[in-house]
Amino acid sequence: MDKKDMKILVLNAGSSSLKYQLIDMATEKAVAKGVCDRIGIDGSLIEQKCGDKELVIKENLATHTDAFKLLLKALVDKDKGAIKSIDEISAVGHRVLHSGEDFKGSVVITDEVIKICEKNAPLGPLHMNANINCIKSAMKVLPGKPMVAVFDTTFHSTMPKYAYMYAVPYDAYENWQVRKYGFHGTSHKFVSGEAIKYLKSIGAPHARIITCHLGNGASLAAVKDGKCIDTSMGFTPLEGLVMGTRSGDIDPACVEYIMNKTGMSISETLNYLNKKSGVLGISGISSDFRDLTAAAEQGNERAKLAIDMFVYRVKKYIGAYAAALGGVDCILFTGGIGENVKIVRSRVMEGLEYLGVEFDKEKSDNAPRGQTVELQKPASKVKVLILPTNEELVIARETLALI
Ligand code: ADP
Repeated sequence: MDKKDMKILVLNAGSSSLKYQLIDMATEKAVAKGVCDRIGIDGSLIEQKCGDKELVIKENLATHTDAFKLLLKALVDKDKGAIKSIDEISAVGHRVLHSGEDFKGSVVITDEVIKICEKNAPLGPLHMNANINCIKSAMKVLPGKPMVAVFDTTFHSTMPKYAYMYAVPYDAYENWQVRKYGFHGTSHKFVSGEAIKYLKSIGAPHARIITCHLGNGASLAAVKDGKCIDTSMGFTPLEGLVMGTRSGDIDPACVEYIMNKTGMSISETLNYLNKKSGVLGISGISSDFRDLTAAAEQGNERAKLAIDMFVYRVKKYIGAYAAALGGVDCILFTGGIGENVKIVRSRVMEGLEYLGVEFDKEKSDNAPRGQTVELQKPASKVKVLILPTNEELVIARETLALI
């Protein structure tokens, strides 16, 4: 079969969920999208969309194996499915959180690869255990089907050592691999790759790109000649920007102080920084920018502060990465906030003329959704883009390339 005619099943497992897309590589479009939710919890179900056909099945899903079996059943459903037989699935691409330092790119999954993932599970236990579970389930249910692991971290494996090291005693790195890894790699890879193609096509410089992935989780990457040289997330996704519910950068000494004041344990305190902080913690309203912008417009001071802090942190990182790259040719916005929240784009771009940015607020405020759009004025030395991300497509492309 021509590789182009293949269909790739992309899986993204969380601890109690399993998201999936079946991507037709001829069109690079999803022919079915779905999610198994509440795995191992009461009320589990699958919801699938296939064109305009919607399918919901409520069924007890005790494990990821149950979920995987049910999603295959949904995909081949006679009335509301996308394919006639599971033989039409050529391969499975798994999103895997962490590569540790063992992989520099995506890999075909073997028993050895699973062992290495198990060794690296302590680097991100919640997601890694779900990812490994999902891989094992898929291998059990579809033995012999080619499977590929695509890691959230490997795009950042090109960072120079002075950028990824933390200045703690060297043993912590040598013995326990304590360092910056970075996440959202599939998104930063996709949008920087698409930006390079686009900039080349219009004859614009493309060597120095800053990618701003602003979603519920948010991170920036500095990309030089297509390779990541720095990124804002760290050992875990907690470092860097102010996010929906994560604090981003904070003096680690605050942890002990907060623990002493509240009596929380270390894991409760990390949960506080990961789940209760960010724009949610500051506003006390919501982690969602739709709610925050509405509240700010009504004069809510803490919602305004949360947006100010979010914007300021992005701007600081842009300045830092412009310095790391020795200037900037393109700044691009992606993710739910980057693609949709115009006030964030215009506030981040305010005052960046010193970098050669001439931002066109009109264009940004009226940008059509779901496509690559230029947001700069003609005189701007720097291109400013909205470029919708598509992490599932990267996983499908990488899977296709390796099978
Ligand atoms: P993640 O994949 O990290 O969960 P997304 O990239 O989907 O997050 O971004 C989610 C966030 O994007 C939401 O919390 C919301 O603040 C914002 N968002 C998404 N769509 C819109 C929209 N149409 N208008 C305003 N904000 C939006």
